[in-house]
Amino acid sequence: MRQSVPLLGLAQTLEKVRGTSSKKEKVALLSSYLKGLRADDARVAARVASGRPSERGSKDEAQVGYSTLLDVLREVTGATSEDISKIYLEHGDLGEVAEEVLGEKKEQTLFSEQLTLAALDEAFQKLRAAKGRGSAAAKRGIVKSLLLSASPLEGKYIVKVLTGEMRTGLVSGLLEEAVASAYGLSKAEAARAHMVLGDVGAFAGKAAAGEAGRIAMTPFRPVNFMLAEPFASAKEIAEHFAKKVYAECKYDGIRAQVHRSDGKVRVYSRRLEDVTTSFPEVVGAFEHAKGEFILDGEAVPFAGGRPLPFQLLQRRLRRMEDFEEARKKAPITYFAFDILYRDGKETVDLPLAERRRLLGRALAGSSARTAETVDVRGEREIQAAFRRSRDLGYEGLVVKDPESVYAMGKRGSGWVKLKEELDTLDVVIVAAEYGHGKRAGVISDYTFAVRDGDMLKTVGKAYSGLTDAEIEEMTRRLKEITVRDFGYRRQVRPEIVVEVAFDSVQRSGRHDSGYALRFPRIKRIRTDKGLGDVDTIEKVERIFSGQKLKVDEK
Ligand code: ATP
Repeated sequence: MRQSVPLLGLAQTLEKVRGTSSKKEKVALLSSYLKGLRADDARVAARVASGRPSERGSKDEAQVGYSTLLDVLREVTGATSEDISKIYLEHGDLGEVAEEVLGEKKEQTLFSEQLTLAALDEAFQKLRAAKGRGSAAAKRGIVKSLLLSASPLEGKYIVKVLTGEMRTGLVSGLLEEAVASAYGLSKAEAARAHMVLGDVGAFAGKAAAGEAGRIAMTPFRPVNFMLAEPFASAKEIAEHFAKKVYAECKYDGIRAQVHRSDGKVRVYSRRLEDVTTSFPEVVGAFEHAKGEFILDGEAVPFAGGRPLPFQLLQRRLRRMEDFEEARKKAPITYFAFDILYRDGKETVDLPLAERRRLLGRALAGSSARTAETVDVRGEREIQAAFRRSRDLGYEGLVVKDPESVYAMGKRGSGWVKLKEELDTLDVVIVAAEYGHGKRAGVISDYTFAVRDGDMLKTVGKAYSGLTDAEIEEMTRRLKEITVRDFGYRRQVRPEIVVEVAFDSVQRSGRHDSGYALRFPRIKRIRTDKGLGDVDTIEKVERIFSGQKLKVDEK
């Protein structure tokens, strides 16, 4: 058995990756590093390169808060808060701070063994396992011993992965390419294995072991969801398909993948997290179902034959509520619209029309429902189906090609969506301020950003849209994730994703993206989305250039 390799090699590789802007070079650097690794190391290395200390979908997180990291850095190096603040202001990155201060350590480990990838992985496992009382101290201890044995460069990447802020430009597609090229997989083989495994670490581990060509979908391993392409009108949709298609109601709930096997049922969110405990009704709905399956659908708060406001789901998702109470206030119905796996066989490559039939059979004996669908052809019929869906209380339509396959993780053109209003943006809050008047004492003004490669660029500031209770809750969370406290204003870790509606996009020098949203208002807090789901600057540009009236504030 080969020994695990030192972390230093990975840190040096990532440093080189960061140093080049060429995507090709980034891929080549990581690929040549991965090539020599044993399977377990490849798993850890690819996961670290993706900026995650844990497998995607893992219930337990290993990430560590800024305040813990700052405390440990102070303790290990003797640097003062002022020193650290000064360096942080220069770089805006805690990893860089770690590199700079770790050159001088107050304490040394007795036996300074070189940190290996296996040792790092073990520390991440311990962080995930630290829960409940005493967990803060335990986490601090684990991070401290890591940083004590780390060189400055290693420390930099340990901190980066623990905060989830790699900034190396290695986006998911490039990581996939690097793994494929390291282990001689074709593009299609790599895409499929990565999709089915859902996690780049697991994918690299299998690829290094020569097993990536034989990855099969299995219950209780969630896969990425197929997404829908937004269209502006029924007319465009009619032209896009130019044939008879399915128009399904667009339910406004939580996307949920239901896995059933051996009489057990589990539910996964769109971030591939296991959310079974938040949805006891969904589990209950499949109690009397038969056989094995993986379904795709939407968990919708629903009573008296009509959907209830989506907001009623928020607390339940954060597991803050007694479920009996939640069930009374907003009971959930699961509306299934696809089937990805049935009794030992994948069904994703079958045409949708065929998957429909299988779905109907899989739902026998369950109290879940299938999404309401009508067959439509042409603009008029699509428009009529849209109105009907709106009248029933739904958001709009998802129109699907009966011949399309289930494209895991893709915004495929086989599914398109139609909503009433202008497109919304999913953005992440990066800074926040206390409000005025009635809102004094609560943090109610939020500056938000979109993604630009692996950077975040601000596009606006929102004051409205949340209820008082939501603002209270936001205030609590924003305090927890504060990176710097300027008194009235706080810079926060980019974690909270919100969906904002707005009147238009304008060019503006006020924000570093070069754009500003006009009259933004928060539609909802997207607890179901993470940093990777935040919309991109390209989408903002697309909306801007699609507008009839363009405002240039500059
Ligand atoms: P949105 O903010 O519009 O819900 P999204 O970014 O969450 O979009 P998209 O894939 O772009 O996700 O839009 C389709 C979304 O609509 C799905 O994620 C799913 O949650 C929801 N949905 C509701 N009903 C359906 C349906 N019948 N078929 C597919 N998706 C549906």
